[in-house]
Amino acid sequence: MTRRATKIVATLGPASSDPALLEQMIRAGVNVVRLNFSHGKAQDHIERARLVREAAQRAGREVGIMADLQGPKIRVGKFVQGKVDLQPGQRFVLDASRTEPGDAEAVGLDYKALPNEVRTGDVLLLNDGLIVLEVVAVRGSAIHTTVKVGGELSNNKGINKQGGGLSAPALTAKDMEDIRTAMSFHADYVAVSFPKGATDMEMARQLCHMAAEDGHRPGLIAKIERAEAVGHLEEIVLASDGLMVARGDLAVEVGNALVPALQKRMIKLAREHDRVVITATQMMESMISNPVPTRAEVSDVANAVLDGTDAVMLSAETATGKYPLETIVEVAKICLAVEGGATYHLEADFTGKTFDQIARAISMGGLFTAHHLNAKAIVALTRTGSTALWMSRHLIRVPIYALTSSQNAQRRMTLCRNVHPILIDQDMDRDAALARAESDLKERGIVEPGDVFAFTYGESLGGRGGTNTLKICEVGC
Ligand code: PEP
Repeated sequence: MTRRATKIVATLGPASSDPALLEQMIRAGVNVVRLNFSHGKAQDHIERARLVREAAQRAGREVGIMADLQGPKIRVGKFVQGKVDLQPGQRFVLDASRTEPGDAEAVGLDYKALPNEVRTGDVLLLNDGLIVLEVVAVRGSAIHTTVKVGGELSNNKGINKQGGGLSAPALTAKDMEDIRTAMSFHADYVAVSFPKGATDMEMARQLCHMAAEDGHRPGLIAKIERAEAVGHLEEIVLASDGLMVARGDLAVEVGNALVPALQKRMIKLAREHDRVVITATQMMESMISNPVPTRAEVSDVANAVLDGTDAVMLSAETATGKYPLETIVEVAKICLAVEGGATYHLEADFTGKTFDQIARAISMGGLFTAHHLNAKAIVALTRTGSTALWMSRHLIRVPIYALTSSQNAQRRMTLCRNVHPILIDQDMDRDAALARAESDLKERGIVEPGDVFAFTYGESLGGRGGTNTLKICEVGC
């Protein structure tokens, strides 16, 4: 049996909150559920997290939970009629001191610092870049603009500055409160919106540690969606456990055309630094209202898989769309087809690598051997998940089964491409784990008698733990 290697992240929302449907979605392939903290109250998220854990248990699958923080939202205020229709060429004012609702000539601003941060000639993009305004003058709190691309502008739509440069901090007071909520239900990942540099990620990590009184440690995902972040990718990746190619806001700030190359660069960078990476936004956009994807969407998902992404993410498709289950089925099908057709070879410089950790050397030895021996699986006995993560940074066909007694590690591995985490008892010794792995692999149809698999584990070295042994096992009858 072939197992899908690329993981699927699905955003939970009104369209997917029915327990039976969520269970079906998990059975169809959801590996991680994203809770979007831009919508809903603390209690809603706590309730949704419970729903996910219960549905996963019924489905018999391990599912990770990612709490996606809202971050700073730089938005226009409200309008008398709820919206206005802006015409190209007309003047329009964004006024930070305006308190009354807006009209066709002016509107207030949530982000009061905006007039200090823009200049004549700057381009502001509203409503995900659908409306384009050019700044003609800034007078006190009022930004005077000419509408370059018009359209409907409704209450509280977001504002981006082309090229970036807005100083709003990544972590707001609401995010700090939301981190506490996320830690209360042990979110496996916390995604930080709009980080500009490593400091934002370090601060988010500290806030998580402070909020988790029981020592729970989530993985931190940096959403790359600001132009400034692109210039600080290396430091951000080092301060994070993973990246999200957040193509929605990123495209608005840097322009659509630069995003595909940035996607490839971020995926490569994350893998090189042993981090996970998610490709997000508009992957199956048309499936919000249609039961089948467009050819272009199929290609987009396929290309992300070929680029080496760990996971593809669905937003409105599963949160508010009409076909959440069908979307998961389609994405899973595309991933499997692409993975099945790909040719895998270890990087040319693989044999020249040196390692400063025994565990890492053994992991790479296991990977190399399993790949060249055409083994049916790699079984990694791992406490933290590190060995499985290291192995999974190289794309090979052999699936990695990660046996761990840590639920935290198991749930974090739900995001790692080609890693299938299995929870084992704390007191299970090496031989019991090996027997369990073999019977699991047989049951799943991965191996049959006579097949071989690689097994990495820690044979205690003078009391020191850690993976230090590689064994090649032949499956018995
Ligand atoms: C994005 O901008 O692509 C993104 C994932 O961010 P948001 O959470 O705002 O959808």
